[in-house]
Amino acid sequence: SVHEKLLSVSNLHVRYGNIHAMQGLNIEVNQGELVCLIGANGAGKSSTLNALAGLVPSTGSVIYQGKEISTLASHQRVGQGLALVPEGRGVFSKMTVLENLQMGAYLHDWRESELESIFARFPRLAERRDQLAGTLSGGEQQMLAIGRALLSRPKLLLLDEPSMGLAPLMIELIFKTLAELKETGLSILLVEQNARGALQLADRAYVLEHGEMTLSGTGQDLLHDARVQAAYLGAG
Ligand code: ATP
Repeated sequence: SVHEKLLSVSNLHVRYGNIHAMQGLNIEVNQGELVCLIGANGAGKSSTLNALAGLVPSTGSVIYQGKEISTLASHQRVGQGLALVPEGRGVFSKMTVLENLQMGAYLHDWRESELESIFARFPRLAERRDQLAGTLSGGEQQMLAIGRALLSRPKLLLLDEPSMGLAPLMIELIFKTLAELKETGLSILLVEQNARGALQLADRAYVLEHGEMTLSGTGQDLLHDARVQAAYLGAG
């Protein structure tokens, strides 16, 4: 059901030397939900996603599919269906589109049909399958990073600022893709600076400030919250 807990994070702390980037975070993602983290630069959003992916050290509890995963290595988390689309896309620029996608499936044998479904979702990638990823536009690289993550057969997709640096039409396309992925039943934890777009898409959202969660609610509630409007939604 929609209310089944997929991810439950308690008392998550991330420290870099004496910088305390995340200070006891408690968040949940239910099965099938799109949950968003919003907040200013340096609030700790990327640190949170990277900790969940096992890429930076953290303390606290991360229960995923009923099991504590906080001691698992990052590749083991990928194997359990937890896939990160990192900030800045992280495509392998000297590899082709096709090779990048195949890297997403490095833990299992990929099927041609999976590849074809990615190309069906992103026709621009299909047309460019033999092009080096470094020569793609920012939006195309974002599609590739999402496609690569999908090839790892995720149950929960962690997305770090997919709209960053993209033109408005491309942002729209990426957000539309996220809505479609949610429709397929995929659960999504999305970090975004584009608070308006993200809140419009989100079932629920958390607001992070200086390493702490200060507000939470449904996407609609937060869109209409005066504090959120003042701090993150600007005048537009
Ligand atoms: P942004 O939107 O700018 O990426 P964010 O909300 O994702 O911001 P983080 O990137 O998680 O925030 O950063 C939180 C804090 O941790 C910041 O003060 C940042 O300078 C610090 N920080 C992040 N990564 C490191 C690191 N590798 N070493 C030291 N400090 C770090």
